[in-house]
Amino acid sequence: APFLKIENLHVSIEGKEILKDFSIEINGGEIHAIMGPNGTGKSTLASAIMGHPKYEITSGSVTMNGEDVLEMEVDERAQAGLFLAMQYPSEISGITNADFLRSAINAGREEGEELSLMKFIRKLDEKMDLLEMDQQFAQRYLNEGFSGGEKKRNEILQLMMLEPKLAILDEIDSGLDIDALKVVSKGVNAMRGSEFGCLIITHYQRLLDYIKPDKVHVMMQGRIVKSGGSELAQRLEAEGYDWIKEELGIED
Ligand code: ADP
Ligand code: MG
Ligand code: MG
Repeated sequence: APFLKIENLHVSIEGKEILKDFSIEINGGEIHAIMGPNGTGKSTLASAIMGHPKYEITSGSVTMNGEDVLEMEVDERAQAGLFLAMQYPSEISGITNADFLRSAINAGREEGEELSLMKFIRKLDEKMDLLEMDQQFAQRYLNEGFSGGEKKRNEILQLMMLEPKLAILDEIDSGLDIDALKVVSKGVNAMRGSEFGCLIITHYQRLLDYIKPDKVHVMMQGRIVKSGGSELAQRLEAEGYDWIKEELGIED
């Protein structure tokens, strides 16, 4: 079964339908990108998959390795290997970054299989090095006073520490300067492998210069209207979305 399979998903917010017949399939080893104009429902997709209570799924299915994600509680989704980087990660006061990471890792493990403190620290050091993060960062309280760039970097640290099966990264590039963008991309690229699938949601093509997607999807009006390879992202960057609207006869 595919890592992630979404079939004919319809999602409403406060009675208004945002996702309309959205379908996608992501296999292990694949990185997909979803691009689309503002307000087309990209973040709604991410929130609905993670089980945000405000997003009502009126029909359709979401499965991971054949298991029904929509039947799972939110924490069960994370334990099943789903990872979501929030567009605006929240502050949780009183918990250090390192504490948070260690308990998140061990929450997904059976009793007796927990990562030892030694192994945890070694792994944390290694990933923080790769992401060019200062060591003291681990001891800071989660997201408290983090700059936008630090939050993004920290999300990628979480990704690398948790090693999910499937990650949904919503606008991890927004507000990043080019150096931070490169570091964040390096982290995602380091995750590549047959046991990892990834859905990158982005408004800009820039990120995809550094993380080469296997497939690119264009989302408009709540569903995928066009799919292709990374050349599709380049064409969108050069020409915008109008040619797709014309091709499909979509009115604004
Ligand atoms: P995108 O991420 O593609 O820019 P969003 O998923 O954020 O699009 O938004 C899609 C539509 O859903 C927009 O019209 C937006 O106003 C609406 N929407 C999204 N989230 C909420 C919410 N929490 N409450 C009300 N409307 C929302
Ligand atoms: Mg938006
Ligand atoms: Mg969005």
